[in-house]
Order: sequence, then C-alpha cells, then structure tokens
Amino acid sequence: MPELPEVEAIKLQLGKFLKGHQIVSVEVKNRKTFQGDEGKIIGGKIAETRRFGKVSVIDLDNGYSILTHVKLTGQYIYTGPHLLNPKPLSSKVIGGVPGRHTMVIFHLDHDGKLYYNDIRRFGWIRVEKTEDVENEPFIKKLGPEPPVVKKFTGKFLTLNLFKQILSKSGRPIKLVLIDQERIGGVGNIYANDALWLAKINPKTPAKELNQKSVKDLYEAIVSVLKEGIKYGGASELAFVTPDGTEGKYQKHTLAYGRQGEPCERCHKAIIKKFFLGGRGTYFCPKCQK
Ligand SMILES: [Zn+2]
Repeated sequence: MPELPEVEAIKLQLGKFLKGHQIVSVEVKNRKTFQGDEGKIIGGKIAETRRFGKVSVIDLDNGYSILTHVKLTGQYIYTGPHLLNPKPLSSKVIGGVPGRHTMVIFHLDHDGKLYYNDIRRFGWIRVEKTEDVENEPFIKKLGPEPPVVKKFTGKFLTLNLFKQILSKSGRPIKLVLIDQERIGGVGNIYANDALWLAKINPKTPAKELNQKSVKDLYEAIVSVLKEGIKYGGASELAFVTPDGTEGKYQKHTLAYGRQGEPCERCHKAIIKKFFLGGRGTYFCPKCQK
C-alpha cells in the first residue's frame, strides 16, 4: 500500500496539475468508490491539495473538499493543459484511461480530465465540507508524522514524542512503526528499511529499545522516507503518480524485498524474510540481532 512518500508524490502532482481547474462534471462508474454528493463539487475550482498520513485532500474554492485514499491499487491519472508532452503511460495503468478499471472521471474545464482507476477497488473518494475535514475520525486518530516534508498540516513526530510512543508499547517495534494511530505515514516498505538502517531486529519489543537505538531508529525513519520522496515513491503493485509514471524507490530498498540477497552492509549474511503481523518482514540476521 502506498505510504507517506508515495501519497506525498500523488498530492504534489495533483496540486500541480489541478490547481486553477474548475470541475465541470463527475462521472461515477462505481458507486462504492465515490461517497457523497458529486453535485457539491461541480463548479468548484481546485484551490489547494493537502495530505494527512495516507489520505490526500483536494480543497475547492466553494467550501467543499474531496478526500481520497488509494489503498492497494488506486491510481490517479491527469490529462490536460497542465501536463504538456506527457511521458508514455506506465504499463501498471492496466486498461489505460478511460478503461475497464476506471471508476471515476472528473471532467475539468479547458479539456482537462482526472481519471481514478482501481483494480482491487479498495480505494475511496469522499466529498465533504472543508471545515469538517480535520474532524474526520481517521484524521483525528492519526499519529504524528516524521518531519520529512516542509508543507504539512498535521502533527509532527519529534524524537521526544517517538520515545514516549515506544516506551508505552511491548509490541514488536515493527508493528508499532506501521500503526497509523501511533505514527502517521510509515508502512511496510519504509519500516523494514528503517529497522535495517538502525540495525534493530523487527521483533524487539518497542519499550526494550535503549536510548541510542531509539535515536538511531528515529533518524533512520526520517532518512528512508526522504529517500522515498527523492525517488518519487516505490512502485510496487499499482502505484503510479498522476503524470502516469512510476516511482523508483523499489530499486533502492535496503532490506525490503531483498530476501535471498547478501546484506549490503555486512556482506556476510543473507537477508531473510518472515511474516510478522501478517506482513512480509525482511532483516539481516547478522546486523539486526
Ligand atoms: Zn548485515
């Protein structure tokens, strides 16, 4: 599932392409995907885009906002005057746009279009009053986010806050990192890589980490998320950005997806994979004891 760097990339491009466009009409092909009254957003002009954890918010100038979570396989693709000379569409956009997986089409002024494709159909789009966005239960419950982007409207995770969060949990550290109600935006890929970078075993109970490990882990999280942002996110499953291209972080992962390969740091052990809380967990048995 897209994590902070991937959703940040989606939010930034949605902002770049959509700002100034007016929504002319909305074609909803799957009612389960689109919740709320599309009539409220017709005629609205896109003013701003924001992100809360893995949720993107598109604010209109008429008091309404569009909230969206792409979940496993949701894709936004823009075509129109704000993207001249687009690159070829990624092969991950199965069926193209519009195509058999297109769930919603936003028709914009000046012949712009924003397509929402979703193969597995877990993603959602919701219309809401802008003033109510921050009172959404899932936004209120969202944990503080590591400080990796300058422009952010939510709470930031400080080292002190991180220490407090870890000291209260006896669960394996990796499961605490990916719990969105404790820390916002970190998912499976970046949690695996941050633990490898900080040389911490994913199974270690959070509260048993010493001060140095906590600080190393905090810095590692910031570092891997920044790398993720630099490479435009990781394109596993269906992740593409609204310009129709893929991120490149998957070519630069530290431990994630590297089972069977030698560890890049010690060159002595082979990265192992096991399941923790149902999620693929990758670690070096020598570096991460
Ligand atoms: Zn190693």
